Amino acid sequence: MDFKNTLSKIRKTAIDTASSVAQSAKEGSSVIAKKSEELVEISKLTVSISSEESKLKDIYAEIGKQICEKYEHGIYIDPDLVENCNDIVKLKTNVKNMKDRIIQLKNKKFCPKCGEALESETVFCPKCGYSSENINITVEESNEAFEINEIQGNIADEETLPETEIIEEENKDTAF
Ligand SMILES: [Zn+2]
Repeated sequence: MDFKNTLSKIRKTAIDTASSVAQSAKEGSSVIAKKSEELVEISKLTVSISSEESKLKDIYAEIGKQICEKYEHGIYIDPDLVENCNDIVKLKTNVKNMKDRIIQLKNKKFCPKCGEALESETVFCPKCGYSSENINITVEESNEAFEINEIQGNIADEETLPETEIIEEENKDTAF
């Protein structure tokens, strides 16, 4: 009798446990579903906030641009904004100077011996006296890669030249 009783108790406990596990699993999955809905909404809101904030920035920038343009044309602006406008004028000048410098550098060649920047028409390097006649060195778009189309004439000091700067005519095709 005891055995039967115990078995019955165990069975009941097992059924209770199983149903309670099922119940909490059901609750758990509805909680998870709710949480994921919330996460989706949070992501959507975050994207919308970024989009609206980006529009705000553009409008603020446009307002600032219009005020500074007025200032640059001598039109009266709020004196509180003059300092900011002066900063912008300075920054614009810096950018222009750097762009001009790039144009200037692109029109130059570099002495293969000492690396001095030379005007494109210069024949003798004023720094080391190297004859750059027939040497055509241009600065690539990247401002890093040097292209040497032709090397003739004064190659007496060739052995002392850095290998990266000089590519002999016969190696040109395989070097690139
Ligand atoms: Zn030189």
